[in-house]
Amino acid sequence: MEGLVTPTINPTAIEAIDLVKDYGQGDTAVHALRGVNVRFEQGRFTAIMGPSGSGKSTLMHTLAGLDSATSGRIVFDGADITKMNDNQLTLLRRHKIGFIFQSFNLLPMFSAEQNILMPLTLANERPDRRWFDQLVRTLGLGERLNHRPNELSGGQQQRVAIARALITKPALVFADEPTGNLDSVSSAEVLSFLKQSVRELGQTIIMVTHDAVAASYADRAIVFADGNIVADVPNPTAERMSDLLMAERERATRAAIR
Ligand code: ADP
Repeated sequence: MEGLVTPTINPTAIEAIDLVKDYGQGDTAVHALRGVNVRFEQGRFTAIMGPSGSGKSTLMHTLAGLDSATSGRIVFDGADITKMNDNQLTLLRRHKIGFIFQSFNLLPMFSAEQNILMPLTLANERPDRRWFDQLVRTLGLGERLNHRPNELSGGQQQRVAIARALITKPALVFADEPTGNLDSVSSAEVLSFLKQSVRELGQTIIMVTHDAVAASYADRAIVFADGNIVADVPNPTAERMSDLLMAERERATRAAIR
């Protein structure tokens, strides 16, 4: 394994221990995660990279309790979530985990403000106005709160989606290719805001991306290949990450033609 993560004192946000995920059984089984061990610290921004089919989404889905593990443990907030039932997982996701998707998934008939508050509206909970104001300020959405999604740029829509993911003050935020549908200017804007959310609001963000530039905004980048972690890079740069991904692609091509 390449690279060493500098030791820090941040407490653990979530940890996977010997995590295995197989799809199917017997000869046709796909080994999506082959015994992954990884710890994510609170208040840090981590990018997960790797070729298509390497297991990135599977890791994110199992960590978020959206998909079950075949074996191993996932410790989140002091509990092993692989042992939880559907009700417990639903509550955990509702209160402790936020999601940001590639396609912003905003509700078109509602204003930016209503979209941001939607998770609380659905749970019949009151918003913490100070937190709402802080999010709106950090994400630069103050002038846009009464606009509907189709009156906002892609970057602004994704910022609304980020505020919606953060409104419940989740302990953990998963972002799945959050800049996949954005041009480079909007991508830079959204990534800067994600980084700022980590710095100023103390959020923990785990982001899946195929983009080395996007990964360079993170504090740490993990590279996946064939269901395993093959590199763990602190303070990643775009150059370093694209070199690593290129090397990984060449290795996979050589293995395939052998
Ligand atoms: P990535 O996100 O890195 O592209 P995935 O986690 O989506 O990779 O996939 C890892 C492996 O698991 C791939 O071989 C993929 O085909 C397989 N896989 C993912 N989801 C399923 C599923 N629901 N059923 C069967 N195989 C799956």
